[in-house]
Amino acid sequence: MWTMTSAPLFPCGRFAPSPTGPLHFGSLVAALGSCLEARARGGRWLVRMEDVDRPRCRQAHADAILAVLEACGFEWDGAVLYQSARDARYRAVLADLRALGAVYPCGCTRAELAAAHPGIDGAPVYPGTCRGGLPPGKSARAWRLRLEGSIGFDDAVQGRQCQHLPRDVGDCVLLRADGLFAYQLAVVVDDADQGVDHVVRGADLIHSTPRQIYLQRLLGAPTPDYAHLPVAVDAHGQKLSKQTLAAPVDAAHAVPALFAALRFLGQNPPPELRRATSAEFWAWARAHWRLARVPRALGQPAPDYHEENIT
Ligand code: GLU
Repeated sequence: MWTMTSAPLFPCGRFAPSPTGPLHFGSLVAALGSCLEARARGGRWLVRMEDVDRPRCRQAHADAILAVLEACGFEWDGAVLYQSARDARYRAVLADLRALGAVYPCGCTRAELAAAHPGIDGAPVYPGTCRGGLPPGKSARAWRLRLEGSIGFDDAVQGRQCQHLPRDVGDCVLLRADGLFAYQLAVVVDDADQGVDHVVRGADLIHSTPRQIYLQRLLGAPTPDYAHLPVAVDAHGQKLSKQTLAAPVDAAHAVPALFAALRFLGQNPPPELRRATSAEFWAWARAHWRLARVPRALGQPAPDYHEENIT
């Protein structure tokens, strides 16, 4: 549990990649936007490896992501936090939530939930089968958070957002049937423990924010400011992701990639910055960054930033 006295005193932002593959252009945009905003606020900027979903994550991907960030000239504060080392902390917070009666055991299988209607993010809305206690014949597989009411927040890029939690997303899993903690729990605990006071990340996560705020309020944790950046989409309108095999950022083309990411974020860098040194790039970007210039869009086409394709 947190109390308001543990509210962060200093500005602090973070970039929180999941090491399920190499860093692609979409993640570079999130890294750049979060870093520039943290620095513009005079704050710290952390890198956290969200490797809570262990079967999908690899240390080799984490190492490669950090190597590309370094080659791009990113400088993060302190040591990288790995969620895979934090089970004991998540377990303690889940115990607090149990004591509050805010979570309940769920015996439903994925197959049983496949017929549930999709929520605002496309995932099935939990129909509440185990909400009032495990029905006879079912045994506990996962732990779910009981979500009630509506949550609104003012996103610095996308504007006012409002969600009716039971209707739009439904009770979410915090401890999975395979014994792993879920992203929704880990991200809230880590942002609070690390003193993160503003979150800049891709708009694919905007529908997760209200339930994260709900959890923060239950736990007495402060709610950070939120800014959700447009995500980079491919020619089919699909978000660039490791799953769609988006091209990794090439460390040999670091400045052109950073330049393209800065332009993607609406910052209008002068064309000659594309051929600048890394130090020149960062000096310009830090001096000129304005969150207010980021386009209010959930997605935008990813540019092709490789030398041979720019005329
Ligand atoms: N780990 C998430 C991702 O790579 C980001 C989570 C967050 O920024 O809250 O998409």
